[in-house]
Order: sequence, then C-alpha cells, then structure tokens
Amino acid sequence: MAESDWPYPVSEFECHRCGNCCRGDGFVAVTPEDATRIAAHLELSEAAFEATYARRTEDGALRLVDQGDALRSCVFLQADNTCRVHAVKPTQCRGFPMAWRPPDALEICAGLRAAAGLPFPIRRTISRRTG
Ligand code: SF4
Ligand code: SF4
Repeated sequence: MAESDWPYPVSEFECHRCGNCCRGDGFVAVTPEDATRIAAHLELSEAAFEATYARRTEDGALRLVDQGDALRSCVFLQADNTCRVHAVKPTQCRGFPMAWRPPDALEICAGLRAAAGLPFPIRRTISRRTG
C-alpha cells in the first residue's frame, strides 16, 4: 500500500501501545540474524531459543510461537503490551507500520488511527488460524 493511500503523513505515527500488532492472525518471521541477536539477549543458545520461543515451518523458515491464548499473543508480548525483547526484536517487528503494514493496519493500530483522527481500536479479533 502506498503512502499516498493514507489520509495523513505516516511520518506522524506514534505507537500507542495497544499491542494489537503483536496479536492475532499472521506470524512473526525470525531471520538468522534476528535469532542470533535475540538468543544472545536472552542469554540462551540459539538452539535453546528456537526450542522455547520459535518453530520451523515445513520450508525451514523460523517463526515465533504464540502464547496459546485466544488472541494468539506473541510469546514475547507482556501484560502491559510491551515487548520482552524490544531492544532486539525481529526485523519484521521493527518495520511495522512504517516499512510495511497489512491491509487491516488502520483498523487495528491505535497509533495509525490516532494520526488519522480515529478512535482507539477495539481489541484485535481472530478471524482464522494461519499456521
Ligand atoms: S517480538 Fe515483540 S514486537 Fe514482535 S510481535 Fe512479539 S511482542 Fe510484538
Ligand atoms: S498496533 Fe500500532 S499502536 Fe498498537 S502496539 Fe502496534 S504499533 Fe503500537
């Protein structure tokens, strides 16, 4: 989606910590560099990090697991909607919502909604499992 599709300059974005981008449909990809960085931060071997916090897809890609809750919260999402590994979080997380955003970003992201003059979003709902 091009920035020109948005009703305001995306550069005005400020995170409001709703946590919705860390829940719900979709997945968090973990690059080899992400895995090395996060494992070191957690003082784990990469094998232990992978065994505890991630899984491999059939094609060998690494993804974070969720907490097994109804909202499919990321394994690193904390009760106050902060990220346990914020300083070293995956590249995908660092890029949201400036570098990339899903089609429903304006529905779920409190920061994008605030910049657009829209009210705080409802808590993210789950429409499907994606693996
Ligand atoms: S790693 Fe952190 S920022 Fe990324 S989805 Fe999980 S809780 Fe959110
Ligand atoms: S959805 Fe937007 S406002 Fe909410 S935590 Fe994620 S980046 Fe911040």
